[in-house]
Order: sequence, then structure tokens, then C-alpha cells
Amino acid sequence: MSKADDCLFCRIVAGEVGTLIFADDEVAAFEDINPQAPHHLLVVPRQHIATAAELSPAREALAGRLLTTAARLARERHMPDYRLVMNCGAQAGQSVFHLHLHVLGGRSFGWPPG
Ligand code: AMP
Ligand code: ZN
Repeated sequence: MSKADDCLFCRIVAGEVGTLIFADDEVAAFEDINPQAPHHLLVVPRQHIATAAELSPAREALAGRLLTTAARLARERHMPDYRLVMNCGAQAGQSVFHLHLHVLGGRSFGWPPG
């Protein structure tokens, strides 16, 4: 797996910092350090991909794995309703440039997002 040495989420995936709550051959998940809801998980590819803009047909299976892992973790945590968020780019709110899917649950969410 490619790993960016200066990437926080690559270090978390590698087990160097933090605690993984799920990992398989392609993706990993952990608790957000600054939760915005009672449940706030992040699902990330093991491979370093900076943003959703780097997804391509070759990565369709990986993109699907992020979604199915989110659904699985939500089921396991008894979250019938939840918000999935993937911020792409700084103006959209992305602050960590290793692709991640936010899984937020345990409260109501408004629309449109801020
Ligand atoms: P985004 O703003 O969409 O890029 O989301 C990045 C998320 O990473 C934020 O919700 C942060 O709270 C979270 N985060 C930053 N550092 C850590 C960390 N060390 N462990 C877990 N989550 C983190
Ligand atoms: Zn990374």
C-alpha cells in the first residue's frame, strides 16, 4: 500500500497512532477526534488518496468499499439514520488530505449543510 510519510491518516491506518475500530485489506475506520455528533466515525482507504477528486473507474470497488463499510459500522452501532459526508477540497471543508468518509449519527441533522 502506498503511504505518505507526512500524512496523519496514513499513520493511523498503519497503527502508528490512534486506535482502529475496523480494518480490512482495503479500508480502515476510527473515531473522529473532534466528534460532531454522538457517533462520528471516519472510514478511509488504506492507500493514500488525497481527495475524492482522485477517484476514477479503477477505484470504483474501493469507493464502494468505503460506503459498504460505513453501512456495516452504522448497523453494528445501531444507527438507523446517519449522515455520510465526504468533503472534497479546502473550500468544501476538507482539512485532512487523505480521503475519508464521515459517518455521523445519534442526532438530527439539518439541511442544507453549512
Ligand atoms: P475534514 O475536515 O473533512 O477533512 O475532516 C477531517 C476530520 O479529521 C475532522 O473531523 C477532524 O476532527 C478529524 N481528525 C483530525 N485529526 C484526527 C486524529 N488524530 N484522529 C481522528 N480524527 C482526526
Ligand atoms: Zn495518507
